[in-house]
Amino acid sequence: MNQLVRCTACNEVFMKTPFDQWPAYESALDRSPNHFRTVEKDDFQEFTRSHRGHRLEDLQILEDSYVSEKPYAEPINVCYFKATNGRERFVIKKYRENIEEPLRYQVIPGDYSLKCSSIEIQSKAIRKQLEAEFRATPLIPAKIAAFLRLFRHIAQTADPTTLEAALEESPHPLQIYYKIDDVSLAFLLRNCRNIFRGKEYTMIEDFVLRHREEGVLLLKGTYKIQLIDSVKPQPTVGATPTALCNAEATATKK
Ligand SMILES: [Zn+2]
Repeated sequence: MNQLVRCTACNEVFMKTPFDQWPAYESALDRSPNHFRTVEKDDFQEFTRSHRGHRLEDLQILEDSYVSEKPYAEPINVCYFKATNGRERFVIKKYRENIEEPLRYQVIPGDYSLKCSSIEIQSKAIRKQLEAEFRATPLIPAKIAAFLRLFRHIAQTADPTTLEAALEESPHPLQIYYKIDDVSLAFLLRNCRNIFRGKEYTMIEDFVLRHREEGVLLLKGTYKIQLIDSVKPQPTVGATPTALCNAEATATKK
């Protein structure tokens, strides 16, 4: 089990993992298998040594607070999560600058939230799917372009806070796929009648209904991690309770 430890005097954290107690094997230069030497390694001991006399406390990591800039498997990545000692909350940045380095954990002031930076359609995939399904009676390029333009307009006016996330998992932690809502669906189909006629329209309607919940007609929402600077505590009277709470959290991190 991993355990996050914080020095209350220095506001530094250490992630205790089972690996810290494992000896590191270093290959000797001659690479002979008999010449491996064991380097006794205990990073946590190093941490306690450099914080001798300081009060250390265990922090609980807040479930679901993890946000990651890149897919979790990426070795060079920056993640943020929140942890608490039961009284105060801390924002921890987990990162590494190059692949040889161990992971670093740092308490950072302020907070973070996820902000939707764009909602896009999967243009390339939609075009490919349309071409495949209309192989027998190909759509003219102008109609495909008009459909994409219409659908893009829907994506740009969509409100991510009201959209329902699709079951389809995104390989990227900062991307979420959404289904279009019923109002957008009706708008899309109504406007498709101006682009497609007769049998073509029937096929397009069928296409939209089939790909709406999964696949190419899902909207791709991209998020970014927004770091929020902490507000400096104001020692003035009349501050709102919320402001006081924030100020308290900031002050205790100093
Ligand atoms: Zn310390």
